[in-house]
Amino acid sequence: MAHELPELGYAYDALEPHIDARTMEIHHSKHHNAYVAGLNGALEGNDDLQGVSVEALIQNLDKVPADIQTPVRNHGGGHFNHSLFWKVIAPGGASAPSGDLAAAIDASFGSLDGMKEAFAKAAATRFGSGWAWLGTKEDGSLAVSSTANQDNPLMGEFAGACGCKPILGLDVWEHAYYLNYQNRRPDYIAAFWNVVNWDVVAENFAASKCCGGGCGCD
Ligand code: MN
Repeated sequence: MAHELPELGYAYDALEPHIDARTMEIHHSKHHNAYVAGLNGALEGNDDLQGVSVEALIQNLDKVPADIQTPVRNHGGGHFNHSLFWKVIAPGGASAPSGDLAAAIDASFGSLDGMKEAFAKAAATRFGSGWAWLGTKEDGSLAVSSTANQDNPLMGEFAGACGCKPILGLDVWEHAYYLNYQNRRPDYIAAFWNVVNWDVVAENFAASKCCGGGCGCD
């Protein structure tokens, strides 16, 4: 079964003024759609990979045939990363972390502001195109990292990242902000905090700890 572009689940203008409607529309319907099409194209003729989830594909790139490893990495990564991104910026939900997630942030970074500072630095200093991540490490603590292009911490050694499971991600490709912010990536990063849905991040955190604890994830 072919991979499909997920519904955004909210209107393109729902994140105004922080992320503008035109950017959201092009980003979702053109950029993300192109990654889905690219992934499906790369998998054509590889019947044994057709039913594999995009998460499993990017976690096991070494098992993907060498001739399609690069397109699966780029387009599969793009599909996974954007699918996560739309959810963590979905309107509604808590405007600040609480409970287990807040405690883990405090334990790993000293405070929410400490985490935001580390995350913003990772996002601002990513040279060229890529992503900033907050992720859960094997021991349940949190880490900030950054990856190039459409790489993802789940790719492990391929991405040279934190060895963590991402629970929050920020797209810092120019296509994610240039229409509204032009070269002012730091302004876009600052605005991002206004649209983070901390309920979704908390759900991602709970699921990621389950994996770290060995309670049945692949
Ligand atoms: Mn993007």
